[in-house]
Amino acid sequence: MPSYRIHIFLYFIFLPFLLKIFPYEGSVKLLVFSILLGAFYSFFPDIDTSNSKVRKFVNIVLFITILFSMSVYLLEHSTYALGIGIVSFVFYLFLQNVRHRGFFHSFLSCLLFSCPLIFISYQTFILGFYGYFLHIIVDYIYSKTK
Ligand SMILES: [Zn+2]
Repeated sequence: MPSYRIHIFLYFIFLPFLLKIFPYEGSVKLLVFSILLGAFYSFFPDIDTSNSKVRKFVNIVLFITILFSMSVYLLEHSTYALGIGIVSFVFYLFLQNVRHRGFFHSFLSCLLFSCPLIFISYQTFILGFYGYFLHIIVDYIYSKTK
């Protein structure tokens, strides 16, 4: 499995070609945000590997979310906070049982995680999709050469 550094490196190598095909017309801040989000998406699929950087990061975020939402629920009896805590816990359990290079390395998950970005902007979607899809392609080529 290529490391997250290789995925990020390849993302930035091919990025100028993508920006040539889809010229950017938004603000510079949104462009920088979209490029960084795309870089995150370029190593996000390895969330299905227990020792990956993204998995460790997501585990910390989920732990804090569960702790915070349960605290809010106990203090204010907010069912909204309880719901967020339960969804975070279920997602945590799901991650413990997910197969490497299974769902998260599929075209379906690429679309599923990229499509919400269209609500930010069309270009953010393009860069997120590109980052995620490039990861899947690189992993596929890597697995065929091993
Ligand atoms: Zn991967």
